[in-house]
Amino acid sequence: MDDIVRMEHVTFTYPATDVKESFNALNDLTLSIEKGSFVAVIGQNGSGKSTMAKLVNALLLPGEGTVWVNGYDTRDEAHLWDVRQSAGMVFQNPDNQIVSSIVEDDVAFGPENLGVEPAEIRRRVDEALEAVGMTAFRKNAPHLLSGGQKQRIAIAGAIAMRPQCIVFDEPTAMLDPKGRKEVMRIIRQLHAEGITCILITHFMEEAAQADRIVILNDGRIYMDGTPREIFTDRDSLMALGLDVPMAVDLSYQLHDLGVDLPAGIVEEEELIEALCPSK
Ligand code: ADP
Repeated sequence: MDDIVRMEHVTFTYPATDVKESFNALNDLTLSIEKGSFVAVIGQNGSGKSTMAKLVNALLLPGEGTVWVNGYDTRDEAHLWDVRQSAGMVFQNPDNQIVSSIVEDDVAFGPENLGVEPAEIRRRVDEALEAVGMTAFRKNAPHLLSGGQKQRIAIAGAIAMRPQCIVFDEPTAMLDPKGRKEVMRIIRQLHAEGITCILITHFMEEAAQADRIVILNDGRIYMDGTPREIFTDRDSLMALGLDVPMAVDLSYQLHDLGVDLPAGIVEEEELIEALCPSK
């Protein structure tokens, strides 16, 4: 198996401050992410998800253990840009990710910093804007766009770096339902094109779209499996105060009311098919 990210026995401790004791955000975490996969990472606030994301991009370095990205040890300073180029990041707040006053300049920012040739930058900007459906807005001012559009520009900026992997840290948390759908559609499309997608999310419907779900708790892996494996173990999720997708919840409620349903329903379409089979 070819892994794009490999974390072995990783512990990360935030140092003590005047107001807070030192805190182990990740505890002996071992996790591999296969190239080309789509992995959702869920867990309560404070479970270590963002810390894990920042370790993948070498924004943070492990205190103990090792993180490899595309075969590079993230502590190896000589390969810092190889790590950052291999694993792009998209954060929660689209406003914090905008660096230029024109959309196309914003998308070009990453490749410019990598020292990419101008003609190649133009090609990458064209492709990246096309991929997120924002070509028509290339001369616009990013701050005048909707939240969903801004987040698509942030994703275009990540794509323009030609990463093998993109870590999305709650990219839809600040968006309206339309913006959320747009961003999820792009993530699915990038995955279909072979980019490894790591999606941190609070929305279970989004996590259900991944190939694999990893649940963190207290900086450790609590569960790791397919959406079907994870969401059909509702008791373990409820023990952490996590939700299940609406279709799963409805299936349990209908089952308790005596409706005969097959086990393992996760998607709305499956529930509809079970209730009203198409001929
Ligand atoms: P999540 O993304 O799952 O909400 P985080 O990785 O952001 O979790 O945080 C894990 C823990 O580390 C939390 O308890 C949080 O308070 C703590 N933490 C996060 N960032 C810092 C920081 N800069 N300094 C000190 N503690 C932090």
